[in-house]
Amino acid sequence: MSIRKRIAVTGGAGYIGSHTVVQLVEAGYDVLIIDDLSRSDQRLLDGLKNLLGITIPFRKVDCRNYNALAEIFSNNRIDAVIHFAAFKAVGESVEKPLDYYENNLFSLTSLLRCMQSHKVSKLIFSSSCTVYGEPDTVPVNEQAAIKKANSPYGATKQMCERILEDIEVLGIDVVSLRYFNPIGAHPSALIGELPLGTPNNLVPYITQTAIGLRNQLTIFGDDYPTPDGTCVRDYIHVTDLADAHVKALDFINQNLGNHIFNVGTGFGVSVKELVNQFEEVNQIKLNYKIGSRRPGDVAKVFADANLAFNVLRWKPRFTIKDALQHAWHWEKRIRSIN
Ligand code: UDP
Repeated sequence: MSIRKRIAVTGGAGYIGSHTVVQLVEAGYDVLIIDDLSRSDQRLLDGLKNLLGITIPFRKVDCRNYNALAEIFSNNRIDAVIHFAAFKAVGESVEKPLDYYENNLFSLTSLLRCMQSHKVSKLIFSSSCTVYGEPDTVPVNEQAAIKKANSPYGATKQMCERILEDIEVLGIDVVSLRYFNPIGAHPSALIGELPLGTPNNLVPYITQTAIGLRNQLTIFGDDYPTPDGTCVRDYIHVTDLADAHVKALDFINQNLGNHIFNVGTGFGVSVKELVNQFEEVNQIKLNYKIGSRRPGDVAKVFADANLAFNVLRWKPRFTIKDALQHAWHWEKRIRSIN
């Protein structure tokens, strides 16, 4: 009988992390969640338990705390790590740059030291399309020049990727996945996006407006050089993004070195189009206005994801409409049990 591999998932109680935990368990992995719950809460851990029918081992630890991390690594066999734990809001990072540099960089270096001292040599890292800043051409592929990031958040992801390039000499193999814009929720509506306080991201702001928690959505700028003037992004269903991590684990188990993949659908959708699709698929009229641009935003970014399609053998299964429907089901369910 082969021993099941155990994956440590930092940030596993968060949005993308929790969805990835589901796909990992379904793919036959054991999972250990490490999360400080600073940007998520118990409700996602409860949702995981309901969805999977088992309690996933969980340690409440901030990854910057090397000693606490090392204790976990000493007491558990860990075969690979998926590192989600990080701050992720572009707008907030412009206002609180030091929080972002401190949290996102030190949690990575502390984790890497821990991996090195415990001889764990496989890492999947959550990177972001923000590393491209405003790309010269879209769809953007992994070869695109990395220019100055538009926000401290984007800069932290660039710096983390650089750190990961440099630690190849330590024998740690890495896949960095450059996420485009994850949206939606698990089709069961048992887990989903649960921002604490006012949402920074578009889709939770939309669903919270639709349910009456917020008065009005503000679309940040309609004077961008795009067809309808609003920003264009590549929105990907969070379960599809989660699946990419399972594929990346298969890949890293067979390949050494440092590898980078875009994870997006390849389609650009504007903020206005997304709002229209939400209204249409859920038969809801959304109260929104046009406001000024948000600092740190780029006009247009969407993925050339052919490398992930061809090398990881990954493909998205859900449409944007599925994602907007699942996001709405989740919002209704989580508010009804509060
Ligand atoms: N956006 C918006 N209103 C909001 C939140 C976001 O118009 O309340 C826009 C934002 O300007 C960007 C897009 O929605 O063009 C996606 O933003 P989000 O924060 O979800 O993701 P990002 O692309 O910044 O990672």
